[in-house]
Amino acid sequence: MVSFSFESALEYLNNFNVVAIPTETVYGLAANGLSDQAVAKIYSLKNRPQFNPLIMHVPSIEMVENWAVVTKLARKLMQEFWYERGASISFVLNLKENHPLSLLALAGLGTVAVRRPNHEVAIKILENLNFPLAAPSANRSNSLSPTSAYHVLQSLGEHVPVLDGGNCAVGLESTIVDLTQDKITILRLGSVTALDLAEFGTANTITDGAVKAPGMLKRHYAPNLTLKMNVIEKEPGMALLGFGNCKDADLNLSESANLVEAAANLFSYLHKIDDASFSSIGVSPIPNHGIGEAINDRLKRACSNN
Ligand code: AMP
Ligand code: MG
Repeated sequence: MVSFSFESALEYLNNFNVVAIPTETVYGLAANGLSDQAVAKIYSLKNRPQFNPLIMHVPSIEMVENWAVVTKLARKLMQEFWYERGASISFVLNLKENHPLSLLALAGLGTVAVRRPNHEVAIKILENLNFPLAAPSANRSNSLSPTSAYHVLQSLGEHVPVLDGGNCAVGLESTIVDLTQDKITILRLGSVTALDLAEFGTANTITDGAVKAPGMLKRHYAPNLTLKMNVIEKEPGMALLGFGNCKDADLNLSESANLVEAAANLFSYLHKIDDASFSSIGVSPIPNHGIGEAINDRLKRACSNN
């Protein structure tokens, strides 16, 4: 097994690589949450056909305050559930303007889910980095959530380094609570229950509110301009988002036709190219395999919004 030392894990994460880390819920496939390139490696390894927004793992409330709006209610709940009770709970918050987080990790949303894991190793890792870790469960899409280093190995194979922290004590994904409207809305139930939250105000539950796919959420990112896929020839007024060898491209997702690089650039390039000086956006054909499937899924959603 590719079991890793603590120091090697830090070095990997500092170098924009992926490491499976233990948390009290399940093992997370973690990478620098500020870097589109690092986050693209997570999606590529998981082989997910869609870009789900990822939870940002943080060591402290202070880190969250750098890029998200921490209301009085949010601070109270974080203080109580993260620090006092060591509970497994994620909070969805509004982002500050000009935040540095990876748009790919956010799947282009204007909100972010944050969590302080209740696991000694995870906290020690986070305290030694100066960025949050984006981390979904460390398994391939559609397989069981990994609660031991061995499960990670079984699902993802030898090429993913695993920091072994023993078996996960909780084994169930975190409760997710939306605080963006400054009231408590439960999006996913985990070990923290509605009753636990009711102490802090009325807690409504919308269990289908958690974003299974970013396209399911109303406030997801869609370009203002009309978007057309599989464009070979640029039309007048069109901004062309190229892929591979494409001489007319205004921006190119990956000149070397690398799908992981294209995924990393997708959301930030869509933002850049969505400019009123153009009349539409065209995107070169993207091969529909590997992470290309998730790119095409995202582009299809952007088309259907026009
Ligand atoms: P996990 O399955 O524990 O990796 O958590 C990821 C899930 O958190 C996503 O699939 C979403 O359901 C949810 N999530 C992450 N970010 C957001 C967000 N900004 N708004 C709502 N739900 C989110
Ligand atoms: Mg999962």
